[in-house]
Amino acid sequence: MTRAEILMFLRTKADALGLRDWTIELSDMPADPEHEADIDFDEHKRTAVLRVCSGFSDLTLTEQRGLLVHELAHLVLDPIDAVIDQACEAMRSAEARKMLRTAYDAANERVAWALARAVVGI
Ligand SMILES: [Zn+2]
Repeated sequence: MTRAEILMFLRTKADALGLRDWTIELSDMPADPEHEADIDFDEHKRTAVLRVCSGFSDLTLTEQRGLLVHELAHLVLDPIDAVIDQACEAMRSAEARKMLRTAYDAANERVAWALARAVVGI
């Protein structure tokens, strides 16, 4: 996908996922080497900057689309992140906070991939 195609795909899928009020940009910088893509966002400003890995263009179109929707899915899940953050703040036990955060992060990834597969049709 060209940069323009990526941006058009992101806008279309973001709208489909209920993210119409978000401004989603594609960074010129690559994602951190340990990730194929990542997204930084500000839930209050409704802005997000997505980065893809340097080898993104070598992936299949389906893989590219899956990664892009996976990152958008993290925006969809953001309201749950906020609840988990509040729950963690209320917990006295650092061990319990860590357990909750670890379990939630794993579940968040699974749900983000499930949404990506459903949206992309894989
Ligand atoms: Zn993820």
